[in-house]
Amino acid sequence: MMAGPMAPGVCPRCGGPNPRSAAFCQFCSAPLPGVPSPEPVPVRPGGPDSFQLATSGQPEYPVARVVLLIFGILLFVGGLVLFGIAASVHQTVQSFNQACMQNPTCTPESDPSGAITGVGVAVLIIGIILLIVAGILYRGD
Ligand SMILES: [Zn+2]
Repeated sequence: MMAGPMAPGVCPRCGGPNPRSAAFCQFCSAPLPGVPSPEPVPVRPGGPDSFQLATSGQPEYPVARVVLLIFGILLFVGGLVLFGIAASVHQTVQSFNQACMQNPTCTPESDPSGAITGVGVAVLIIGIILLIVAGILYRGD
């Protein structure tokens, strides 16, 4: 039984003051309500407001952060994959052009590996930015 400090066992029937622990009125022996409307802030029962604040205020893993992390990692890895593709394209074109030099009718291929590397750098940078933003979101709570 909790004891409210404001209205300690005031009888609902006769209004007589009773000790907080009293179950029945000392004057008219009417049954007393255990806790007469606790004025102080209820810690445990809380309200719907405090519950919503607690759940929406500090989420463990905000969805936006998870999405940013996933996309950041994907772009980061994608940039590295593009580097690999560019390297292999470069090697292929170079060996083709080397063979081509010995054939006068052959026109050498242009090497697109530079452009692929550029795209890879851009994708990698975007991925890193997303990861940084995700980190900022995580810290800014
Ligand atoms: Zn009474």
